[in-house]
Amino acid sequence: MSRRIGTPFKACRNCKRLMPLDSDKCEFCGSSDLSRDWFGLAIIIEDGSLLAEKLGLEKTGRYALKVR
Ligand SMILES: [Zn+2]
Repeated sequence: MSRRIGTPFKACRNCKRLMPLDSDKCEFCGSSDLSRDWFGLAIIIEDGSLLAEKLGLEKTGRYALKVR
């Protein structure tokens, strides 16, 4: 039995948000420039948290750290 390696997310190259694989455009910024080739997962659960500030992110949500 083989298991597919990967995550059930695509990352937006524009805003780095993660969204389900079946999305064809970003539900946050409207960009259709989505990539499955990303790594590093940042989950911002609190607006204005230190991590959010460090990463330059403003809103809560799931983000990719790097999108290729
Ligand atoms: Zn986006």
